[in-house]
Amino acid sequence: MTGTVQVLCTVIAASHLLCIPPVLMVCGFLPQHLAPAYHLADIASQVLQKPELPESETSSIRGRAKLRRALSKNAQNAKVQELAHCSIDLENLLDFYDKLGGETMKHFNPFLSTTADVVRQAVIPLSRMEGMEGRGFAYTDVLAAKGKLSQQMPDCMVTHTWSGLFLHLVAAIVSDALGLDEYHRIASKMSSGKLMRVKQKLAAKGVLHNRYWICCFCVNQHASICNGVGEAPSDPAALARWERNRRDTVTGQLLSLCDCKEPKVLNDQPDKCELNKFHSMMLWLQQQKPNFRQLVAADGDFNVFERAWCVAELVAAHDADIPQRICLYSNSPFDFDEEDLSAYAKLASISVANSVATRQEDKEMVLQQIFSVKDFDRELQHLIFGNRLVKQKSIGYDSLALAARTSRRLQAVWDQVRGGDVKLAAGLL
Ligand SMILES: [Zn+2]
Repeated sequence: MTGTVQVLCTVIAASHLLCIPPVLMVCGFLPQHLAPAYHLADIASQVLQKPELPESETSSIRGRAKLRRALSKNAQNAKVQELAHCSIDLENLLDFYDKLGGETMKHFNPFLSTTADVVRQAVIPLSRMEGMEGRGFAYTDVLAAKGKLSQQMPDCMVTHTWSGLFLHLVAAIVSDALGLDEYHRIASKMSSGKLMRVKQKLAAKGVLHNRYWICCFCVNQHASICNGVGEAPSDPAALARWERNRRDTVTGQLLSLCDCKEPKVLNDQPDKCELNKFHSMMLWLQQQKPNFRQLVAADGDFNVFERAWCVAELVAAHDADIPQRICLYSNSPFDFDEEDLSAYAKLASISVANSVATRQEDKEMVLQQIFSVKDFDRELQHLIFGNRLVKQKSIGYDSLALAARTSRRLQAVWDQVRGGDVKLAAGLL
């Protein structure tokens, strides 16, 4: 353990015993990039409060005026409103899920198949309608053609990765509707054939028809990605992702591409392109629906906090004061008696500055939208940790044990930030 960390741990332990919020005691010692220590300190003090920023700083960070200018410009754009009038309710989402592994995508494996696998092999084939001159549509258009309500504004936009398990995406959305902030129990029910019980639970709570905006269902994949996987990038890490993404996770086979005749509309036609409008659409929806909110369906590896386009959605919602909620696979990383601190340390050291995009210019574009990376990271940390830590009141723990556990977490985060071995650090403390 380094001398600095020893000092920090001692200060936190002492501050807890003295009932002084340790953030006041340690802030002078912390390096700039170790923002999560703010939350670690709060664990010990059990006085977790949302950090208050000076009013002038708050308004400049959020840049509301700038966003509203963007909205007024784009509100006229028919495509923004068209996208905003797409959604899928939980009943249809679960009906779609129920078909996987059966009549659709026979090799679907809930424990392996990613959202990208499902988009390529279920959403895209199912959103081509026969007798329409080879054209393709959004999946929600297909639902509408079948008389299902889908051309309605959503209650909630879902931010997620395509690299996570599709099971987890759906389970996170269902859990959100049930008021839960972790989804492993629902995922377990869904993967063990208890889908009907999940539906009954949703119906009993009166949320079976809650409506969600999910890109893979609401965007017309045939107008953009259906016929290819893009050029192979030169960056080795991006190339590895690209190689993974063009193969089915279960079979390892190259994904078959769609041969529809739907014209492709990409960034060279910015007004008609659907992929560049999520930001404006969120703003438009916020104006139309005061309770509109964002759900972040976090994958098991927390990649959602690293993908540049997911981060862009987080930033957009945050800047527009759209209520945000994060649903994690499990809240166990926040348990005081959790021995494996790797997940906790990863969450505590997330920074938007580390977001990943296939194209460097995408990452730069996202970062340019953020007035202060440090302050955005701090807000994101609060979103992830806030309520979860508040739930973890120290019932059954004495002050010394709590302080000791806090110092172990601080060590784990310190090691994560420095690229150290978290588990080893946890074992040593
Ligand atoms: Zn197509």
